[in-house]
Amino acid sequence: MSTVAERFWQGYADRKVPYQKCAECGNVQSYPRPICHGCGSKKLDWHEAKPEGTVSGATTVYRAPSKEFESLVPYRLLLVDLKEGFRIMSHAEDDVDVGDKVTIDFKEIGGKIFPYGRKRA
Ligand SMILES: [Zn+2]
Repeated sequence: MSTVAERFWQGYADRKVPYQKCAECGNVQSYPRPICHGCGSKKLDWHEAKPEGTVSGATTVYRAPSKEFESLVPYRLLLVDLKEGFRIMSHAEDDVDVGDKVTIDFKEIGGKIFPYGRKRA
């Protein structure tokens, strides 16, 4: 038995972009929850998104939120809108900015696999 968070991080470890879709109302959510963010239903199915999106937010992090990120500082952090209708947080190269189209690749940071946005030509 694994928790929804474990299932989610396993998706990233497998270099996929997992998300949940509600069987009742059709709501999609990326960050995993035991119930639907839209209607409270527990009927959530897992899907895999196409690893492509558009950057809707970008920032450079100068202060690491935890020890595993200290060696990365400063680093780029994005919000990426995916076609499937949800948004994920992603690491990226320094030159990626709002409006850019990115492919979601993956990178190991501190023993954990994180999404890593690469600018698409
Ligand atoms: Zn729902």
